[in-house]
Amino acid sequence: MSTFWDKQIGRADFLAGQSSGSKDLLAFYAQLLRAQKEIYESFCGRTHWSPSGDLEKDVSVVQSSMSGLLQRVARNGPEALAEEAEALLHAESNAMAQELLNYWRNPTDTQFFAKSVLQPYARWLAETGTAPAGRELAGGERTCPFCGGKPQVSFLQSKESGAESGNRDLLCATCLTSWEFRRVVCANCGEERPAKLGYFHSPEFDHIRIEACDSCKHYIKGIDLTRFGLAAPLVDDLYAAPLDLWAREHGYTKIELNLIGL
Ligand SMILES: [Zn+2]
Ligand SMILES: [Zn+2]
Repeated sequence: MSTFWDKQIGRADFLAGQSSGSKDLLAFYAQLLRAQKEIYESFCGRTHWSPSGDLEKDVSVVQSSMSGLLQRVARNGPEALAEEAEALLHAESNAMAQELLNYWRNPTDTQFFAKSVLQPYARWLAETGTAPAGRELAGGERTCPFCGGKPQVSFLQSKESGAESGNRDLLCATCLTSWEFRRVVCANCGEERPAKLGYFHSPEFDHIRIEACDSCKHYIKGIDLTRFGLAAPLVDDLYAAPLDLWAREHGYTKIELNLIGL
């Protein structure tokens, strides 16, 4: 069941080997994905344990899976994160447990460690069909139908062979599963008027575009798998970091920052 993680890792390794500005970020992300895969596998490999879906009950198991990730970030992360990882390795376990629970109940995209660890946990819940509990999140079609998380990235793919343009899906920032979404609608506020929705694209990233909304001034990145099927939306979002800078300069806020904070 690790194919999902292997695919992301393979794509991050490949892109980190290309000569582009995001090289260091991608190399770090490849390490982080390896750590997340280890966490995921530690859940699958536990005998006599399956997740309850209630983080309050599962938190000690989740927390005990974290040290590898903290060590990798301490070794390979950008300075500020590396220092934080080092501190967490020596912190009291109650503090981290509280941070995980806070994120679970009220996620924010700036809680790097909680988000990194709870992604493999929530994905494991999704794959075992265990409904998450203790998350009273907004709901509605613009959040994940499984866990209530916000969309991290949007992507187009052809579900039927011969279809000309492809379906649009949103990928959840928390459980990393995806759900179908209408094509010409803002994923943040639901705006549908075409005049309010803008798409920005740079020839450098041919299969990636910014999908921006002038009503709520938010954006999400769209990855077009019908143009380039080898892309992995989660990783290609990070690869096209220069587009985030462009969007920010033009006054748009990302619906959900990725793990690298862009
Ligand atoms: Zn989700
Ligand atoms: Zn909007």
